[in-house]
Amino acid sequence: MKNYNIIHLNDINKLKRIELHDQLNLTSSEISINQINAGESLPFVHSHKQNEEIYFILNGEGLLYIDGEEIIIKKDDVFRISPQGARSIKADDNSSLSYICIQAKANSLENFTLKDGKLEDCKPSWLQQ
Ligand code: ZN
Repeated sequence: MKNYNIIHLNDINKLKRIELHDQLNLTSSEISINQINAGESLPFVHSHKQNEEIYFILNGEGLLYIDGEEIIIKKDDVFRISPQGARSIKADDNSSLSYICIQAKANSLENFTLKDGKLEDCKPSWLQQ
């Protein structure tokens, strides 16, 4: 069994939404890549039962609706929303908005980086000398 999944996304800027859970066999999170055309909006407000969401704005400008507030969002903004946050996103009238959304169970992370990683003895060609 191989320990990885890899896909190549063609014409990523032309796709409205890609969900990577099935394509990469994700087991700890859902990651989606989303594009909203200028002046358009997600057609609903939603929250989650147990997953928090982390958003990375890749391009454009727009508005985040969160619990009654409307906040300007733009390229390079990164934000986290608790499961119970009532949210929606709209692209600016003059700019499409693209973003990555990572969805993972709130409070499920136990260890990460140095506490979870461990060094292996094998080496790729570029480290052998
Ligand atoms: Zn969501």
